[in-house]
Amino acid sequence: MSSTHAVFLLIGLQQAVFCLMWSALAWFGLSRRASTTWAVTALVVTVGVMLIAQRGHIHSWLTYVLGNAALLAGILLLRHGVQRFAHVGSSWRRDVLILTVVMAVLTALRDMGRYDLIVLTGSTLLGLAMLHVGWVVARSLREELGNRLALACALPVTLLGLAFIGRAALLSQALDPAGASINASSAASVTIGTGFFVGLLALNLNVLALVIARLVQRLHHLSAHDGLTGLYNRRTIEQQLTEQDRLLQRHGTPYALLSVDIDHFKQVNDRHGHPAGDAVLRTVASTLRGALHAPQVAARAGGEEFWLLLPHTGHSSAMALAQHLLAEVRAQPTVTQGTAVRVTVSIGVAMADDAQESQEALMQRLDAALYAAKLQGRDRAVWAPPPHQRGATITPPAPPTPPALPPPAAATPVATHPLP
Ligand code: GH3
Ligand code: MG
Ligand code: MG
Repeated sequence: MSSTHAVFLLIGLQQAVFCLMWSALAWFGLSRRASTTWAVTALVVTVGVMLIAQRGHIHSWLTYVLGNAALLAGILLLRHGVQRFAHVGSSWRRDVLILTVVMAVLTALRDMGRYDLIVLTGSTLLGLAMLHVGWVVARSLREELGNRLALACALPVTLLGLAFIGRAALLSQALDPAGASINASSAASVTIGTGFFVGLLALNLNVLALVIARLVQRLHHLSAHDGLTGLYNRRTIEQQLTEQDRLLQRHGTPYALLSVDIDHFKQVNDRHGHPAGDAVLRTVASTLRGALHAPQVAARAGGEEFWLLLPHTGHSSAMALAQHLLAEVRAQPTVTQGTAVRVTVSIGVAMADDAQESQEALMQRLDAALYAAKLQGRDRAVWAPPPHQRGATITPPAPPTPPALPPPAAATPVATHPLP
C-alpha cells in the first residue's frame, strides 16, 4: 500500500469514528438534529475520501466525479449541521442544484480527459464551500457565543478552506492534462492528505466542543433556574442573598427583600385544574420579572411563593415597588382554556440594613410580614419592622380593591375574545 493510500485510509477511518460518535450523541439527544446531520457528513466524507484514494484502481468517474462531489456534499452537510445547531434556516434545494451542476461539469471534464481541471475545480469548490461554512459559523453563532468565540470556532474550517484555495492556485499554475492530481507516488499527495486529516480532526473536535459547551451552558441554566417560570430558583437567590449579606457586613450596603405569595392559589388548582395553576404561576412570574430592573432579581422560592431581592434599595422604594406589583398582578389575568383567571398576591417586605442581624432572623421577619398581610385580608403589602422596632408594626394602608373585580381566583369567560 502506498503512503498516499495509507493517509486516505486513515482519513476514512477517522471519519467513520466521528460518524459513530455523532450518531451516539444524536441517540442520546444531544443537539439531535445537528448531530444526525454531522453523522451523515462524516459518512459522506468517508465515502468521498475512499473513492478518491482508489484513483487508478476503480472507474475514473467514481473516483474523480463522485469522489469530489461526495466531499463537496460533506461540506454542504457540515453547513446544514451548523445551521440546525444555531436554529437558522437552511436550503436543501439550492445545495442539490449546486451538486447536480458540479457533477455535470466534472463529468464533462472527465469525458474530455481533463483530470487536471477536475482536481482544480474540486479543490476550488471545496475551498469556497469551507470558507462559506466558516462565515456561517461566525455569523450564526455570534449571538450565542459572542464575537470572539464565534470567530475562533470558524477558524479551523476557514483555514482548511484557505488551504484548498491555495492548492487550487498552485495547480492552476502548472496545469497538466496528463495527470496533475493525487497519485500514489506523489509526496504532495501525502502532504495534502495529512493536512486534510488534521483539518478534519480539528473541525470535528471544534464542533464537538460547541455541542459540549452548549450542554454545559444548559445544565448551568437548569441548575440555577426554575423550570416552570424561568425565574431563578431558591438555591440561586439564596446564594445572591449571601452575597448581599456580605456587602452589608463589609460596607453597610442595605438591600430589601420581598416575599410574594399568591392568594388562595389552592382554589385556582381546585377550580381550573393544575395546568391552569401552572399558567397562573407563569403569568405572575412574568409580571414580577417585568417590573424589575437590574440588579433587582426575582426567584421562585417554592410552590406559589416568589422572592424579590432589591440591592441598594431603601424602605420607601421597596414599598412603592410592592404596591406597584400588587396593582400589576391584579390587572394581569391569565387566559387559559378560554377563561380569564384573576389572582392577587400578598407581599411581605423586609429591609436588611443591620449588619448585626442574621439571615435567619431576616427571613423570620419577612415570613412574619407575609403572614400579617394574609391575616389582614390579603392583596396587600406589609412591612416587617426592623429588629430594634419589634412590636411596632408599620402597616401601610391596604390598597383599595376595585369593586368590579371578582373574588380571588375567579374565572371570567372570555368567549368574546377568542384566543389567537
Ligand atoms: P394563601 O392565600 O393562604 O396563600 O392560600 P393558598 O391556597 O395560596 O396556599 P396553600 O399553601 O394552601 O396552597 C398552595 C397550593 O399551591 C397548594 C399546591 O398544590 C399548589 N402548588 C404548589 N406548587 C405548584 C405548582 O408548581 N403548580 C401548581 N399548579 N400548583 C402548585
Ligand atoms: Mg398562597
Ligand atoms: Mg404559599
